This record gives sequence, C-alpha cells and structure tokens, in this order.
Amino acid sequence: MTLDPADQQLTLELDRADVFHSWSAQATLKPMVIAGGLGSTVWDFEGNEYLDFSSQLVNTNIGHQHPAVVAAIKEQADILTTVAPAHANLTRGKAAQRILDRAGNSFDKVFFTNGGADANENAIRMARLYTGRDKVLSTYRSYHGNTGAAVVATGDWRRVPNEYARGHVHFFGPFAYRSEFWSTSPAEESARALHHLERVIVSEGANSIAALLIETIPGTAGVLVPPPGYLAGVRALADKYGIVLIFDEVMAGFGRTGTWFAYQALAEDGVTIEPDLITFAKGVNSGYVPAGGVIISPAIAEIFDDNVFPGGLTYSGHPLAMAAIVGALDAMESEGIVENAARVGRDLLAPGLAALAATYPIIGEVRGVGVFWALDLVSDPETRAPLSAAGVGALKSALLSRGLLPFTADNRIHVVPPCVVTDDEVARALALYDEAFAAVGD
Ligand code: PLP
Repeated sequence: MTLDPADQQLTLELDRADVFHSWSAQATLKPMVIAGGLGSTVWDFEGNEYLDFSSQLVNTNIGHQHPAVVAAIKEQADILTTVAPAHANLTRGKAAQRILDRAGNSFDKVFFTNGGADANENAIRMARLYTGRDKVLSTYRSYHGNTGAAVVATGDWRRVPNEYARGHVHFFGPFAYRSEFWSTSPAEESARALHHLERVIVSEGANSIAALLIETIPGTAGVLVPPPGYLAGVRALADKYGIVLIFDEVMAGFGRTGTWFAYQALAEDGVTIEPDLITFAKGVNSGYVPAGGVIISPAIAEIFDDNVFPGGLTYSGHPLAMAAIVGALDAMESEGIVENAARVGRDLLAPGLAALAATYPIIGEVRGVGVFWALDLVSDPETRAPLSAAGVGALKSALLSRGLLPFTADNRIHVVPPCVVTDDEVARALALYDEAFAAVGD
C-alpha cells in the first residue's frame, strides 16, 4: 500500500494534530507510520516489514487482521451497530457466555466496559459497594490504566501525588531480582511478601479496606511471575479480612500465558486460586474494537439486584465489540491458538531467551510464560543496576532496523508476540534479538 501525495503531506503534519503520533515517534525512535498488518507482521508505507513482537500494546493476541474476527465485525456491521446497554442485545449475551465458559463456575456475570482502565474503575466501585469500605490496596509495580481510580491504583511510573490519591495504598509485591528485601528462595520470598502485605492491611485498618487489586502477573512492570504460594497467600489474607480480591488480567488474560487467564497458568498441585472479580480488556477481542469488562462472582453479582448500575456507559457492550469477542474467542478455541502460545513459550521462547541471557551479560533476568516475557536489561550484572535509557534506545533501534517491532518499558525489552506466532517467526525473532544484542555490545 502506498501513500498518495496528500497523505504523505499529512504524515509530516500529524505531530501537530495527534498527541499519539509524537509519542509513537519516540516509542519507535524513527518516524514510522504503520500501514497494515497480517498475523504477526506489520508493514509501513515504504513497504518495510516488521515482526510485531509488541502485539501493539500487548493486545493483538490473535494477530493482525484475523479473517474470522474481521468477518464477524463485518457481519455485525450489516445488522446493527448500536444498542444501549439497557436494551437486550443477543451478541452481548453470547460474548458474556463465551467469557464465563473460560473463567469457570466460580463466576456468574460479566459487566462490559470500553477498555481496561474503566474495567478497573468499575471493579473498585463494585468492591466498595459490596463491602461498604473505601480503601484500595495495590502494588507499587503495577499498571491499572489512566483514569481516576485506575491511575492512582497504578503504583509504578504514573503515580500521582498522595493528596489526589486518598484511599489508595501501595504495598510491595514479590520481585526477588530487584529488591534486596526479598530472599532468592521462592518460598521464602512468598512468605516475606505476604508478611509485608498483612502488616500493611493491619496498619491501614482491615475494616476500612474494600479491595486488594493485583495484576495476576504484573505486565508493564516486567512480567513479574509471582513465586509459588503467593496467590494462595493473597487469597487467604483477603478471606481473613473480608477484602474483595480483584485480579487485573487486562494484559495477562485471554491466551497470553498459554491459558485463558493468567491465574489458571499459576495453578499449583492442581489447585487454581481464583479472585472475586477479574478485570479484562485487550486480548478479549485482540483490540479490534474497544472492549473490556469485569467478570463477577455470584455473591458480588447480587449488588446488581438493587439496581446499583441501572445502565452502563453508552457504548458498553457495543455490538461490534461483542461480535469481535465472539469471533475472536471462537477462532482461538477452534484453531488451538491458546495451546500454540503455551507450546511456543515452553519449547521455543524459554530455551531461546535463556540462551541469549547466557551469552549477553546485559540481560539480567528472563521472566515469563506463554508469549508473555520480559528481559531485564542491566548495566552491571553484579549490582543489577538498570541499563540507561540511551542503552535501551540503542537496542530498540538495532531491532527496528533489522525488522522487529519491540516493546520496551524502562530498562526492559518485553518479548510479547501474538499468540498465533509461528515457529519460523520465533526462530527469526530470536536470531534478530541475538544480532541486536551483539551489535550494541555485551
Ligand atoms: N490494566 C493493565 C494490567 C494494563 O496493562 C492496562 C494497559 O496496558 C490497563 C489496565 C489499562 O487498559 P486500557 O489501556 O484498555 O485502559
């Protein structure tokens, strides 16, 4: 696809009109306008192809332009494209059922939103209504979205001053690699993190805490897979103190971990730890049409009987988004796409990334599961000091110029291809990471 002269001029002027255009130029370190995509590949208007190992913002789980999802959207577009949440909507009912089928019997209802941040807003509101309490506990290394309660729950790089964040309290989740505080024994690490969490609960006053909001596997913070026993311990503390447990699966959910939800990938000895509420977005329809929501356990679903949420947001459960959910989830199931993510993670990415880490001291730690991985980049393996922004930028440029679209956050490269990624594409990507690491020096 080529640009006509008017559009060529426009791409030069986009900076003026579109906030995200200048942001994307920073993200990719060169002016690059994505023209199209298919599967795990995107291309620009100059015809350069890139392996999309970012899945955009870690949302394109089913890959670009999957024919089943595109067809489902087109079909719905010919029938009906807007229905207020207060009116019955068959496609919404089907989407809710498809989601509940994957989450299992502990859940009863789905509340649809337009994305991940408003999913978290609504989950927090439900927890407050259900408990009659106010405070929300979340971890320092987390990202929950960029709206009111979601951004103050975010503990990482978007923290807002405390005076704007009353009622939001942060605690340290487990992260052995970067914190001297934790032990390197996973069991010990879990125990210490849980001890710390209980101290925070008690010192804040358990009777004032409505919700414990955690990303099941913190994504933007570096795919921090929790150590064994941690989720079970968090569940036990939530039960002990009557706190609603929310798993934010906006980034980790819908196939990325090689299971439908991340908490299912973290089952231990056949025991799956479930929350009271699950928030989702991104992978539910791979971002083809904005959608998100909250999956609700039966006890909390009862608050809807009091007509607490008589309607919803105008576009919640939008027919096009719902059709995309049904199309995406059905195709993921019939084509074994979640199983592909599990296999690629286990057989290709785990050994491939470990081999890179063994070769290049700049890679401090490799963490992940399925097609959800992050490499911690360090300037000194002994002190684990983070690699500088310039160092990360050089690596990013080296990858882009070789045809791989990376996802980076702070001093990390996230390896997050679509769940449909093929063995050949993974092999090519691993070779490109290898070349790029070699080029920037070890
Ligand atoms: N929660 C998590 C874990 C996320 O990673 C994100 C986005 O990256 C969000 C919430 C916010 O989702 P959205 O961008 O759809 O509002």
